[in-house]
Amino acid sequence: MQVATFLAYLAAAALFIVGIRRLRKPETARSGNTLAAVGMIIALIATLFVIEFQDLFLIGTAALLGTVIGAVSAQRVQMTAMPQMVAAYNGVGGGAAALIALSEFYYLQTEGGGDLVAEITIPLTILIGSVSFMGSVVAFLKLQELAFGGSVTFPLQQIVNALLFLSILVLAANAILDGTILPFISPVASVVAVLAASAILGVLLVIPIGGADMPIVISLLNAFTGLATAASGLVLENYILIIGGTIVGASGTILTRSMSSALGRPLKKIIFAGIAAAGSSKKEDQEEREVNDVNAGAVGEYLSDEAQKVVIVPGYGLAVAQAQGPMYNLMETLESQGKEVLFGIHPVAGRMPGHMNVLLTEAGVPYDKLYDLEDINPEFADTDAVIIVGANDVVNPAANDPEQNTPISGMPILDVEQAEKVIFIKRSLSPGFAGVDNPLFYDTDKTMMLFSDAKQGLQEVVEAVKSG
Ligand code: NDP
Repeated sequence: MQVATFLAYLAAAALFIVGIRRLRKPETARSGNTLAAVGMIIALIATLFVIEFQDLFLIGTAALLGTVIGAVSAQRVQMTAMPQMVAAYNGVGGGAAALIALSEFYYLQTEGGGDLVAEITIPLTILIGSVSFMGSVVAFLKLQELAFGGSVTFPLQQIVNALLFLSILVLAANAILDGTILPFISPVASVVAVLAASAILGVLLVIPIGGADMPIVISLLNAFTGLATAASGLVLENYILIIGGTIVGASGTILTRSMSSALGRPLKKIIFAGIAAAGSSKKEDQEEREVNDVNAGAVGEYLSDEAQKVVIVPGYGLAVAQAQGPMYNLMETLESQGKEVLFGIHPVAGRMPGHMNVLLTEAGVPYDKLYDLEDINPEFADTDAVIIVGANDVVNPAANDPEQNTPISGMPILDVEQAEKVIFIKRSLSPGFAGVDNPLFYDTDKTMMLFSDAKQGLQEVVEAVKSG
């Protein structure tokens, strides 16, 4: 490799790392994203020199197609559909790594060459890349609510998975050892079979996962894609693929670990145990039970007259209704009356990590008012009112109920019930993403239910507080 290409790769790698570091804070996140994108452009141009500008037509067409699809979908995607898009992009990356490895294996078989490292990393890349591709497809279908809703399980699922994994290992070994283990299957046929079996394994691993575990799985699949890319870098002897893939693999692994420990859900349990479908959220159950149904005037009056310390908890419905502006106005109005206002942000509120922080920071809420789960929970005991806007799972005490086995069981929640009053602003008694009914809805002494679209409800509450 020429010195200039090596230096370009080094610069790209440095930009990736600085870019990721800047993603840690909302104020620097945009420039971090731009720096990483510049790094990617440098890497692409340097790679054209490495391959001596061969096949420019094919590469140009693929790059143009990818750019158009990427730019159009990124412009059009709703903030609430971001996880699906991340899952789709992630899957494509894993699938590409698997196909590259497959074609490289075919090339080495027909043209000769390749060493032990390549022979081992090729099936490994195909395995991880295909699992990541099909796992991401299933995650996309689940998040888009097109198929595999909830937790899909069947008898002996773990044994089927284990047998499938074992057969992948045997087929991979057969490919590496030139067909000596299974003489009736050629090495090329073996790696094709590894690809197909790994794709099935990807489906089987993700279908039982649902509810609160989806964000963790998306992050895990992201780490897999990074590993597959790094492994394909070893196959192709390309440094930037190794570096870029390792960065994605490492950061995805760190994110997966910190999310699963923040949610108190060990990774082993997520991957190897299906969850029971939520049973207590049937419509009849809800209709039979009484709630304290109030209007915005009553909420405004309580906030004006009785509340000194207020915590606002945003959830997915806030993003759907694009109600962050009125939420900011409510904060300002309450503060103008001398009240203390804080925001409690759960790590999986909304539909992507950091979703609520992004929306509220964009609306102008100061970053130091946004409290994480562990920082806000001790505040609830002396809080007069918690206003929960378009959220359910993240405040659902059913998660702590040892009698229930639900998709959110064991997930730490925001302990809103410790506050004096709880005010929900949502349209109905529908449960959230995990489909688990919330006992707080029916605590008529503590809870006020303001049935409304989040934006409209917040606007009305602001008016009521002003005139109260
Ligand atoms: P939930 O999905 O639990 O609840 C959202 C609530 O918003 C619903 O009960 C709905 O009730 C209400 N809602 C919907 N539209 C509106 C509207 N226009 N106005 C007012 N309310 C509305 O959200 P949470 O934020 O509490 O929890 C997030 C869930 O999503 C968790 O289970 C998490 O695991 C999962 N998840 C999170 C990801 C992440 O990375 N953050 C990624 C993927 C999944 P109603 O219809 O009655 O209005």
